[in-house]
Amino acid sequence: MKRFMRSNRFGKYQALVAALLILLAVLMIYSRGQRAAQRLQLRSSGEVDQGLDKLQEEPQTRHNMDAPSPFLPPSEKYLLGHVDPSADTLFVPVGPQYAGREGMFMHREAYAAFLDMHRAASGAGVDLVIVSAMRTFAHQKRIWENKWNGRQVLFGGILATSIGDPVERSREILRFSAMPGTSRHHWGTDIDLNALVNSYFESGEGRKVYEWLLEHAAGFGFCQPYTAMGPDRPQGYEEEKWHWSYKPVSSQYLRAYRSEVSYDDITGFDGWETAREIGVIEDYVLNIAADCR
Ligand SMILES: [Zn+2]
Repeated sequence: MKRFMRSNRFGKYQALVAALLILLAVLMIYSRGQRAAQRLQLRSSGEVDQGLDKLQEEPQTRHNMDAPSPFLPPSEKYLLGHVDPSADTLFVPVGPQYAGREGMFMHREAYAAFLDMHRAASGAGVDLVIVSAMRTFAHQKRIWENKWNGRQVLFGGILATSIGDPVERSREILRFSAMPGTSRHHWGTDIDLNALVNSYFESGEGRKVYEWLLEHAAGFGFCQPYTAMGPDRPQGYEEEKWHWSYKPVSSQYLRAYRSEVSYDDITGFDGWETAREIGVIEDYVLNIAADCR
């Protein structure tokens, strides 16, 4: 009897252990399934899945100006803006509370950093509003050709069509607008803030915004690529106090641009033949403020 009771107790113990082991196995299978499903979802985005895995592991490197982005190197289509940001998980939509209009997109890392910067700026009474963000090649082509064909006046009120020489016509448009395939806006790393005129940033509310950015933007990874022209930046675009770039990603894009893109890629829009003579890659794309390189 005693022996039987002991073995009966032993049997109960064994059953309990077996039940626990089964529970553990079920939990392991479930969590593995969850991870696989997550991976599958990321993988559907093709080129970025490896980057996403790394980003999840290293979110703390986001604001380090010199930390390389995990989404690299970008392929040529990303450098030239031949992507649809609404169908590519490398890009995320900009929340309407941060933007002048709906339907804008940013590179996901740049947007995360922008949100942190926006929060800090708001705390200091500074309102940052995104006026323009990612622009595709097709979008930039519309902007460029509207100017090239005289549908839109240039800065200073002149029509590009009044300039007969195509190289001179391109140069005049290039004071403030990039040729399709050469815009930093293709990358989703660059944004225009608050207003598209320097004068806004020189007094009142705009001056407060610009001074805050000069002091704090670098702490969130942002730099101003088009500073005043001078010895540091002798040619290229004129000063743009509204244009800010998320350097941890954009500096890598610039490096890739230098090695991957040639004048053969800058084509498919009115006036493209002038790109080589002007030296658009050297004098405009690569010619940015030292702080942004
Ligand atoms: Zn811009």
